[in-house]
Amino acid sequence: MTNVELDQLRKKVDETNLQLLELINQRAETVQEIGRVKEKQGMNRFEPVRERAMLDLLKEHNKGPFLNSTIEHIFKEIFKAGLELQKDDHRKALLVSRKKKADDTVVTLKGESIGNGTPQFIFGPCAVESFEQVDAVAEQVKAKGLKLLRGGAYKPRTSPYDFQGLGLEGLQILKQAADKHDLAVISEIVNPAHIEEAAEYIDVIQIGARNMQNFELLKAAGASKKPVLLKRGLSATIDEFINAAEYIMAQGNDQIILCERGIRTYEKATRNTLDISAVPILKQETHLPVFVDVTHSTGRRDLLLPTAKAALAVGADGVMAEVHPDPAVALSDSAQQMNFEQFDHFWDAIQQYLGVHAK
Ligand code: PEP
Ligand code: MN
Repeated sequence: MTNVELDQLRKKVDETNLQLLELINQRAETVQEIGRVKEKQGMNRFEPVRERAMLDLLKEHNKGPFLNSTIEHIFKEIFKAGLELQKDDHRKALLVSRKKKADDTVVTLKGESIGNGTPQFIFGPCAVESFEQVDAVAEQVKAKGLKLLRGGAYKPRTSPYDFQGLGLEGLQILKQAADKHDLAVISEIVNPAHIEEAAEYIDVIQIGARNMQNFELLKAAGASKKPVLLKRGLSATIDEFINAAEYIMAQGNDQIILCERGIRTYEKATRNTLDISAVPILKQETHLPVFVDVTHSTGRRDLLLPTAKAALAVGADGVMAEVHPDPAVALSDSAQQMNFEQFDHFWDAIQQYLGVHAK
């Protein structure tokens, strides 16, 4: 074969490549169009039966030299790429997506803005145990010039024999203490039927990790129009977390704070594994404020400060941590709540960190 012949053949291959490129992209555009139609009709993107029919048709017309198995392999890749494209389009269309809305969503509470670039903090006991207990913590929170108080009234415990919380009475205690110190209250709700009565007592509905995919609860929280702090599920992917937030926003409520609280891994040194990279990913992918709960992610008092600094360093809009007047006798999470002295040290160190690393 002469070089001239080779050059000609290569030219032909180049031309075929370009034709294929055009055809593949033409196919992709049609697939996107199909995706939009399916989305409108609420249909599933992946249809294995349809995929099988497409492969069979190709094999029927295949005159070689490629074997049917090779054709199947190549086209499976093309199908997969098309499906990915539909998924990307779907993600862009989500109400919580940064691509849908470029500006940060700011959640406002008692005159405080969450998600406007200034970090915010939520402190309070794991569970509401008595008025005196919550009042004592609220006083400490107030003394630091802070506005946000947490406390669990409905405690979704792993064991049914552990303290389950004071329920409505717990919410009343929280409100009483918060009013006394002019604070806003954040508390977990576990039952959609409780949202209406809880709304009288709390400023932010917390949806806990164990309920991240309780879709009826998400919808009810969305319909309530109260700000919602949504925690990441114990084993939820970021994609699942984002979709859970979408459930709330789809009901017309955009006052959502996402909260990374550690995920379950094989690591036993910490209660959960804090997925610190989830913070910048969530900030990129969504327009919602992102918090980090350092208490439940680490389960260790000695790690609260370093992980809080890490959270702020990667761009979290705030940090949540638990504080109790006497953690040793707390009815839940006694190993990781801070006492008042530890709270003071934690706060001083955070202030110093923020002073040094001021934006
Ligand atoms: C809580 O914040 O009180 C709590 C139970 O956390 P999580 O849902 O993240 O476990
Ligand atoms: Mn707790």
